[in-house]
Amino acid sequence: MTDYLHRNCPACGSSDSRREVRAAKTAETMTLDQLRPFWAGLFKAKCFFSYHRCRNCALLYNPMFFTPDQLGDLYARMAPNMDAVGDAAIVATQQGYFARAAAQGGLDGGYLEIGPDVGHIVREAALHGGFDRFWLFEPNVTIHDQLRDAAGRGRARLSTGMDDLSPVPDGSVGLAVMVHVLDHLLDPLAMLAQIRAKLRPGGMLMIVTHDESSLLRRIMGKRWPPFCLQHPELYNPATMKALLGRAGFSDVVVEGSRNVFPLDFLARQAAWAAGIRVKRVPLPPIPVGLKLGNILTLATAPVQAAARSPMLEAAE
Ligand SMILES: [Zn+2]
Repeated sequence: MTDYLHRNCPACGSSDSRREVRAAKTAETMTLDQLRPFWAGLFKAKCFFSYHRCRNCALLYNPMFFTPDQLGDLYARMAPNMDAVGDAAIVATQQGYFARAAAQGGLDGGYLEIGPDVGHIVREAALHGGFDRFWLFEPNVTIHDQLRDAAGRGRARLSTGMDDLSPVPDGSVGLAVMVHVLDHLLDPLAMLAQIRAKLRPGGMLMIVTHDESSLLRRIMGKRWPPFCLQHPELYNPATMKALLGRAGFSDVVVEGSRNVFPLDFLARQAAWAAGIRVKRVPLPPIPVGLKLGNILTLATAPVQAAARSPMLEAAE
């Protein structure tokens, strides 16, 4: 039997939780080798670790999950995702995210992104912002050249690590971005506390995640796609706000975010969900914007320099 990580609530540290969502195939009863094909998305059957609700802070998380070593091994063999959606729709979705952050202003100083992928938001930030440096933490080295191009030659600072932001000067970043990253992290609070220290006073963090309190989740129940092996915890607006407060952020705004999908893709997904296997549907690839159970969070670093996160002090 494989040894998995046993952990307390990653937001508040409490061990007191109640099981809320259990897969038909519970990952905790299976070996790592049995889980590999599910991780790669090769089977239609849903398989994930049981999600518990923290009785102290209400975060939904996996008390049992992969260890950091097991995760490193699994991610190293993972194929890039979302290919089926099509590049134009991804670009349109990510342009919308940047436009939302840009509406708040403050597009200067450093730009920091964890998991920028090929750099759709980086490109927008380079075009429309006044950033002097792009600090990009992206483990996939095969796309580092694309990221350098997106940032503009000479301005990108790339790193393959995802958990050590020490190359970035404290208090230097105007905008930090994490799109579908926070709910993949074993220790989201440590990451948020690090980012908070890198932001200049009044600097902003933008986060996009799934919303486990969304209508889509309630309709789909345990078949909701974000219940999967890649998400050791899942957020809703209240648990997101509480976590950011713990990491020292103020002025936290959480709102529904818009995803753009081609119409033919949506029809194919709907047919698939209904159990009909189709490769093509006779519809044009018209872009459609939908609020489909994702949330966009904007959090500001306090303007007064005195406030420090208690987590950072404990770590020093
Ligand atoms: Zn908790």
